[in-house]
Amino acid sequence: MAKKQFKAESKKLMDLMINSIYTNKEIFLRELISNASDAIDKLYYKSLTDDSIKINKKDFKIEISVDENNRTLKITDNGIGMNLEELETNLGTIAKSGSGVFKKENEHKKDIDIIGQFGVGFYSAFMVSDKIEVTSKAYGEKSAHKWVSTGIDGYEIKEANKDNYGTEIILTIKESTEEFDYSEFLNNYKLESIIKKYSDYITYPIVMNKSVRELKDGSEDEYIEKEEETTINDMIPLWKRNKSKIKENDYNTFYSDKFFDYEAPLKVIHTSTEGLVSYNSLLFIPSHPAYDFYTKNYEKGLQLYSSGVLIMEKCAELLPDYYNFVKGVVDSEDLSLNISREILQQDKMLKTIAKSIETKITKELTDMLKNERETYEKFFTTFGTNIKFGVYDNFGANKDKLKDLLMFISSKTKKFITLKEYVDNNKDSDSIYYCCGETIDKIDNLPLVENYKDKDIEILYCTDYMDEFVLQTLMNYNDKKFVNISTSETDLSTDAEKEKLEKHNESSKDLFKTMQEAIPEVSTIRFTNKLKKHPVCLSSKGNVSIEMEKVINAMPTDEKLNAEKVLEINENHEIVKKLENLQKENKEELKKYTKILYAQARLIEGLPIENPTEVSSLICEVLSK
Ligand code: ADP
Repeated sequence: MAKKQFKAESKKLMDLMINSIYTNKEIFLRELISNASDAIDKLYYKSLTDDSIKINKKDFKIEISVDENNRTLKITDNGIGMNLEELETNLGTIAKSGSGVFKKENEHKKDIDIIGQFGVGFYSAFMVSDKIEVTSKAYGEKSAHKWVSTGIDGYEIKEANKDNYGTEIILTIKESTEEFDYSEFLNNYKLESIIKKYSDYITYPIVMNKSVRELKDGSEDEYIEKEEETTINDMIPLWKRNKSKIKENDYNTFYSDKFFDYEAPLKVIHTSTEGLVSYNSLLFIPSHPAYDFYTKNYEKGLQLYSSGVLIMEKCAELLPDYYNFVKGVVDSEDLSLNISREILQQDKMLKTIAKSIETKITKELTDMLKNERETYEKFFTTFGTNIKFGVYDNFGANKDKLKDLLMFISSKTKKFITLKEYVDNNKDSDSIYYCCGETIDKIDNLPLVENYKDKDIEILYCTDYMDEFVLQTLMNYNDKKFVNISTSETDLSTDAEKEKLEKHNESSKDLFKTMQEAIPEVSTIRFTNKLKKHPVCLSSKGNVSIEMEKVINAMPTDEKLNAEKVLEINENHEIVKKLENLQKENKEELKKYTKILYAQARLIEGLPIENPTEVSSLICEVLSK
């Protein structure tokens, strides 16, 4: 039979595996055992909804055995098995999980790292083997097939004999070299320790034939050696174990194995809840977003177990959207095993668990904010947008639960501050001032901000495009209303100052009329006393702010927004005299000045200038006078 070629991507990964100088080669066993365990899960799960499948849960096992003479290591399971087609697609290409991670990480990580950090699955066996033979029989099928590969040049599949359903993998272990002692993978003690290390929590027995010494019948000092099947793993899943006996490293290994993350989680939440429903949960807040977190392929959800048996890989109903970054496992004895997805969605128990989980995550984050500020800030930098989304989503239905988890940058310290901290810092103020912009520096340099700094008023700097929507959803916090300092209505001046300004504006109507002819897109032009040094600024009237205009217009939709713009001119600036003179003497010149001033205001706000060539020649013209 002709050799078949691996898919290009699989080849790349295999090449890495075979030629890897990565020292942590032993993880191949973990990968094969976890595949075997998944295959058993699948069969068991299927048996729950299919009466024709007659199996006894007690018979499930994963066997490991060694033939030192032939240098082979055999891993056998009685799981669901694979038919011809499945052998072809599953082992001829890298499975989804592995390849996605591989591609993404390969962009910026060194090749060698990938192998150790991810569950790259079946292919990792090539790190230690010259040849791999997979004989498999799918449950319920008559024929078995054998897949054989000696590496990168391809694989063959042929019919084979196998009595029982399931999969048997035989690895021919590489000869030892000066650099690496491959023979250790033929040593039972070594294998046992690898299994203990990585696969202790696998819920099916991992058995090995071990030789044990027993006293000979009737003898007191004579022993006989006997081969005996021994279960190596503890089988109690991590989430069911006593918290006090679990080391941080156990959690981290479990997390990286199960959720393919090379970085330790930021927080582990391990709970055991009794009550309306009893469940154990082991939840993780990752340190960074999953590689596909921002794509539409990302699916939220927790693994759902019923009494230690996996019933759903990703149960979305267990997490609210804003906590979609949380990974983990939920195990409840109160959930029926043969529950279908449809029933599950309406299941009252499940809803109760979901609610309880949400409360636990919120509490954990609240505690983190209180007791581990630095960790929380790291969390917020990574997943803060989620919290904001939670406040904003669903017309603010969850805003009260989440508002105290929000943070913004303070104008005073340029560090994160919560709303509560802002209110505590500014007890005398009945407003919470904020200003939006692209970066902290850009906001900090806005002409409008100067006045607030002078008066020692703290401002929240909002650099996330969602911030403004979030604050508008909240409307107020502890009875203090949010005030955007860049709306034209916001005014810090005294009544006397206001009156003086009003008069000045009133008497300058003609001036503004001429100016407006030059920039008809601006709805209002007027003097302001908000500015100190700068001649002009742009603010907005009504519901759409300039920041919102920027955000919405940057989106790839046809819907474009226009904020109602107000050009505010610093009434104490020298330019005012010039403008007033031009109004009397040269209206055409005044219009040119207006265009330049408006362009300046747009620039400062970070808005594009629609006609840069015109503005540029106007500036030159004025400069050359
Ligand atoms: P992953 O486990 O991440 O999906 P692998 O490369 O380890 O990737 O395995 C590819 C696929 O091959 C698995 O998804 C599974 O469908 C199948 N497979 C591997 N080992 C077994 C096994 N022992 N029994 C049944 N199917 C298996």
